[in-house]
Amino acid sequence: MADKPRIPGATPAVAAKLEKLGLIRQADLVLHLPLRFEDETRVTPVADAMPGVPAQFDVTVVSSEIAYRPRRQLVCRAGDDSGTLLLRFLNFYPSQQKLLQPGARLRVFGEPRGGFWGTELVHPRFRVLHGDEALAEALTPVYPTTAGLGQGTLRRLIERALAEADLSETLPAPIVERFQLADFAASVHALHAPPPGLGPDALAAAQRPAWRRIAFDELLAQQISLRQAYAARRARGAPALAGDSALTDRLLELLPFRLTGAQERVWREIAADLAAPHPMQRLLQGDVGSGKTVVAALAMLRAVESGYQAALMAPTEILAEQHHRKLAAWLAPLGIEVAWLSGSQRKKEKQEAIGKVGAGETVLAVGTHALIEEGVEFARLGLAIVDEQHRFGVRQRLALKQKGGESHQLAMSATPIPRTLAMSYYADLDVSVLDELPPGRTPVVTKLVGEARRAEIVARVRRLCDEGQQAYWVCPLIEESEALQLKTAEETYAHLCAELPELKIGLVHGRLKPDAKAATMAAFAANEIQLLVATTVIEVGVDVPNASLMVIEHAERFGLAQLHQLRGRVGRGAAESACILLYAQPLSETARARLRIIYENADGFEIARQDLHLRGPGEFIGARQSGMPLLRFADLEDAALVDAARGAAEELLRRWPEHAERHRARWLGGRAELLKA
Ligand code: ADP
Ligand code: MG
Repeated sequence: MADKPRIPGATPAVAAKLEKLGLIRQADLVLHLPLRFEDETRVTPVADAMPGVPAQFDVTVVSSEIAYRPRRQLVCRAGDDSGTLLLRFLNFYPSQQKLLQPGARLRVFGEPRGGFWGTELVHPRFRVLHGDEALAEALTPVYPTTAGLGQGTLRRLIERALAEADLSETLPAPIVERFQLADFAASVHALHAPPPGLGPDALAAAQRPAWRRIAFDELLAQQISLRQAYAARRARGAPALAGDSALTDRLLELLPFRLTGAQERVWREIAADLAAPHPMQRLLQGDVGSGKTVVAALAMLRAVESGYQAALMAPTEILAEQHHRKLAAWLAPLGIEVAWLSGSQRKKEKQEAIGKVGAGETVLAVGTHALIEEGVEFARLGLAIVDEQHRFGVRQRLALKQKGGESHQLAMSATPIPRTLAMSYYADLDVSVLDELPPGRTPVVTKLVGEARRAEIVARVRRLCDEGQQAYWVCPLIEESEALQLKTAEETYAHLCAELPELKIGLVHGRLKPDAKAATMAAFAANEIQLLVATTVIEVGVDVPNASLMVIEHAERFGLAQLHQLRGRVGRGAAESACILLYAQPLSETARARLRIIYENADGFEIARQDLHLRGPGEFIGARQSGMPLLRFADLEDAALVDAARGAAEELLRRWPEHAERHRARWLGGRAELLKA
């Protein structure tokens, strides 16, 4: 990269700070929009100061002294004809103290608040007045910034960018007209420098068309870049996996059940992708228990019957182990061996598995991250599947795909992506949805129970296990400390053992050795353990149909997706199932809202939609680890705008590709590296 400054007027030190804010080119500054404005266009008489309303005052210092209680601080009394107020500085330089001598005339800006000694301004911005000084003509924007980068510098650079950068229209007139978009240049000017004198509501109303334009543009740039990525992938080659159905047909015959209509449809979609000579990138979504594993097994067999290998990666040992067990059982009658790779496995076993996979002797592999470690090479990987894909970062997903050059990729997730998210962040994926549960399931009854009634719940567990059924007891989540989490789990286990001496009780948590963990899970699956006390390690994928009761202690501490996943562990057999959410009083507002949502909804999509609403998209998709640039201005709840941008992107790429490219470059040009990651 050339080291000449790309932002005119910025020193290298300033440029480094700007880069932290994602501002690399002068054009990026244009899209760095103010958080709010301060009104320095007028002076407010001291008597009119309103608590909480930032304002500017012209005052003369009356007294100035250092106070020591409650801590060292500089306290000035200053006033105008109408009254006086206190200026309070907790950190100050001797030079500042010198400026604040009695008699000094100041122009101060700050947020008044009521104090014991009357109105005060804490840490106001101030400057000494020499004679009559003109007021600002425009509102003063306040920009998001980073340590060491002052508002003054940012303002100066942004003002210059507004004058020098290319603000020309990127969109062709028909698009601007059809979606009734405000002009781009006018919009950024309106957002950086709105006219003074408007109240907050009037200002918001005046800026609304400009915000809509910016949000539309941002969504449009995202759509364009995702579609370009999609097209680039289609242009690459991958082996066409169009095998003869010999193995897949056998598996379907051997299964103890028939595929649901949804499973059949989804399998057809995947098979069609696999048969094409370019890499599939498909997301298989299905609520917990919808039967994704068997679809994965079919896809893996299709790779095998086409002469290729397939790999399945899961985020936890428990889940990977369970997949391995299930696939090995399904595929043994077909004479197919499934290699196992995990972090905790003995070195010798691992080397052996790696050797066989590398030589192409073993055609299927299941495992954890160990699958993507250095040294694991596939002879001819045709398909890579990632289960519970949201648990992995983008980099890990890519690493598995790259293990075999260009292979097909299938990601599976039980965390449904709300429609608008799927349309935006996931627009470069093809999506298949399992929207039907296998027959014979009874809906899970959810109950909210105060902790005071814990003894009743313990009695219920006893009765249920007496009748031959099984239960999970999920320990309180303690996010801050893993050590404390472990301790709590062990205490919960000890308590329940004392309360239910006649039951066989097991404990699983994250710190357990993988062998011990697997042994406990196997014992639970075989009903040798009746009550399984567990941390959230059982959250994903665990499948024991005879378990019909799930108790979650301190349910108020869990996230919605987590609760839904946990609840999905029961209701997998024919027995009437229940999920009991024990909660401690008092409940916070958000905890109450979360519990209500989980209580009122059984459908994962609806829960995810409400979760998105509660938490916002950033947290929802875990963007920090995904490396995807977040939308800064657009609101994904505005489905109409997301729809509009999607349609516009499609049309732009088809009819006006140069416009599309220019538009993408304006928004994402400086971030190209990120998008490629
Ligand atoms: P998930 O989508 O949550 O990964 P699984 O693949 O673990 O779901 O399937 C849940 C359970 O349903 C498993 O015990 C599986 O064998 C069973 N199952 C899958 N498909 C069917 C079907 N079509 N009919 C009956 N049971 C099925
Ligand atoms: Mg699963």
